[in-house]
Amino acid sequence: MTALPTTTTAAVLVAQGAPLEIHELEIPPLKEGQVLVSIAHSGICHTQLGEVRGKRGPDPWLPHCLGHEGGGTVLAIGPGVTRVAAGDRVVVSWIRGPGMAAPGAIYQAAGLGKVNSGPANTFMTTSVVAENRLTALPPDFPLDVAALLGCAVPTGAGTVLKTAGAKAGESLAVFGLGGVGLSAMIAGVYAGCAPIIAVDVVAAKLDVARRLGATHVVDASRTDAAAAVREITGGKGVAVAIEAAGAPKAMESAYAATLVAGGRTVLAGNLPHQATITIDPFPLLLGRKLLGGGGDSAPAEDIPRYIEAHQVGRMPLEGLISHRFGLEDINRAMDMLERGEVTRAIVSMTGDR
Ligand SMILES: [Zn+2]
Repeated sequence: MTALPTTTTAAVLVAQGAPLEIHELEIPPLKEGQVLVSIAHSGICHTQLGEVRGKRGPDPWLPHCLGHEGGGTVLAIGPGVTRVAAGDRVVVSWIRGPGMAAPGAIYQAAGLGKVNSGPANTFMTTSVVAENRLTALPPDFPLDVAALLGCAVPTGAGTVLKTAGAKAGESLAVFGLGGVGLSAMIAGVYAGCAPIIAVDVVAAKLDVARRLGATHVVDASRTDAAAAVREITGGKGVAVAIEAAGAPKAMESAYAATLVAGGRTVLAGNLPHQATITIDPFPLLLGRKLLGGGGDSAPAEDIPRYIEAHQVGRMPLEGLISHRFGLEDINRAMDMLERGEVTRAIVSMTGDR
């Protein structure tokens, strides 16, 4: 048996508005409900970008660890843990599932003192994770795709399959083609939605959407996206519109592009703290539904379904990954995400898939 690591290399948020700093942290002993996980890959999403840039309001937890979607391997379990065992491949997710809850670990670093963490942080080589933020994977499942199952896929696919309850034959439009938006689109293909209209302001992302099954694409930098989507659907609007751009204009367009009778608009993007949108509420009286949320995921049921769909080729999730970085390049990955240049960036702690 190899000795367990006693330290972890982590990207730590020390001050809002400043780049993440790489620090060596001492790992505390595992408490009840905690699991030690070797993280192979982590995704990066707008939640972390907002935290780093200070767009999510004051942060009382500084300095702290970050990242909330990862794929890794269990190294050891704390008292009371029963759902995973050493050697299991796991999805690490911010979304709460079955199993024990546990507080975030408090690490120690030279020069920083105490470093806080949440129940599931992934911008680090080894992480203490609460059992209820882990889902066990089949032994051969790729850990980079696993990272996507921690946030992008349950959020994006959940908005289509669960929040909106999209059915085969219903029309779907997705506004914003990052990891969440493309996951929503892949779920629409999986559910048999048609047509599937992909909307973004970046031409390269529209190309990715076409490859992953969009029947139509709309470049919102050149045209009124709501009008274009309505035109594709014969003037009626789509049955389901998903907003995953995190932009007020995209939210307003998604709402305006939805069928009046029975259409569902789901707002899934993150807006800057205290930003607002303007909509015409009249269609709500006539049956249009405006919904929100993070995909209504139940990891114990949903993640196995996505795993199976991926394994039989019905959810080509690796198509979400546009860029790969080492942990030392995480600030460059953040900058590219901010400029809209990535669909999903993966940060890799090891070379393993
Ligand atoms: Zn996320």
